[in-house]
Amino acid sequence: MWVPFYNEREKMKKILQDYTKEELAEIIKPAFRAKQVYSWVYHKYVDSFEQMKNLPQAMREELDEAFTLTPLMMLTVQDSVDGSRKYLFELHDGHTVEVVLLLMRDKEYHEDGSVKHQERYTVCISSQVGCKVGCAFCLTAKGGFMRDLTAGEIVEQVRQIKMDNGIDANRRVNLVFMGMGEPLDNLDAVAKSVKIFADQDGMAIATHRQTISTSGLSAKIKRLGEMDLGINLAISLHAVDDALREQLMPINKAYNIQSIIDAVKAFPVNSRKRVMFEYLVIKDVNDDISAAKKLLSLLDGIKAKVNLIYFNPYGGTEFRRPEEKDMVEFQEYLVKRGLLCTIRESKGLDISAACGQLREQEKGEAV
Ligand code: SAH
Ligand code: SF4
Repeated sequence: MWVPFYNEREKMKKILQDYTKEELAEIIKPAFRAKQVYSWVYHKYVDSFEQMKNLPQAMREELDEAFTLTPLMMLTVQDSVDGSRKYLFELHDGHTVEVVLLLMRDKEYHEDGSVKHQERYTVCISSQVGCKVGCAFCLTAKGGFMRDLTAGEIVEQVRQIKMDNGIDANRRVNLVFMGMGEPLDNLDAVAKSVKIFADQDGMAIATHRQTISTSGLSAKIKRLGEMDLGINLAISLHAVDDALREQLMPINKAYNIQSIIDAVKAFPVNSRKRVMFEYLVIKDVNDDISAAKKLLSLLDGIKAKVNLIYFNPYGGTEFRRPEEKDMVEFQEYLVKRGLLCTIRESKGLDISAACGQLREQEKGEAV
């Protein structure tokens, strides 16, 4: 396991990954130096300025005085039999966040017809320590809200995952803001991280490979749309009528289902993409076929796809995992009527991959 340089002195410094290349170019002159620093950090994965050999010694020392490159420290890693890998990172102030690397093996063919396996990487990142939204089914919510992450603390999650797994700088990865926190409640830092991720001189993760998942802060969805970042949007819907949604997600009192649908309709979507509606299926709560029917009419006129998610139970929750047959029936109802719908395999069930669950384990609470 890679252990970053991390001590009291480092904690006092500014986080270099908080800066866009353009911002760095204002500080590190001449401007091409910022590009060189980006390359060391995001392509060569260095963890000290000393290693930046094409920078003048004096500049390396100055940068080291002002900036840290290691805002996160890896605490634990857990592997799941399905190939997902879950990390717990410590921030400078001692708070912890989770990040999950999802690995999917794709079959690809060599020219001679033989099969080669290609890994597809998706990193599930956190945007806050805890969450204010307080959904009844979510373990992240149980710990309350601590603070927002900075753009650099978000960016560093991916850099460390890439380093730790030997993922080459130019290998494609997808990002989903589906870890801890509500990304739209920390919109400025999240939007900044999206831009830093996408920088061609940095990790070059195209914005159409990044997905922001939200519990439905309609006003912020509108603002995000106006920013026109080119990211994909995912809505955690989970219920089709306001009464139930309010019970599961208290945020629905401020932003009801119709307000979310209206915001989605106004959202700029890449012509080849769809808005994803996540539907967390909980046994005997929202798994009835009448909900599928209502969902179909709600999404009428939207280029949507639905992702059904198995509720992942943990100690102390009254909610239960749905039956497979009910999931399939729900899915078939939608698919037969022309709505794209997939069932999300509960990746990493054996390591409790739903957000917030590893952190709670570490705190010694039942999961
Ligand atoms: N706050 C954002 C993004 C983080 S949550 C949002 O809510 O969209 C990412 C996803 O994990 C959400 O769709 C959420 O509903 C889901 N989730 C939360 N608790 C879960 C659990 N116990 N089992 C399965 N999925 C869960
Ligand atoms: Fe926050 Fe998302 Fe969990 Fe709801 S599901 S409490 S919005 S992290």
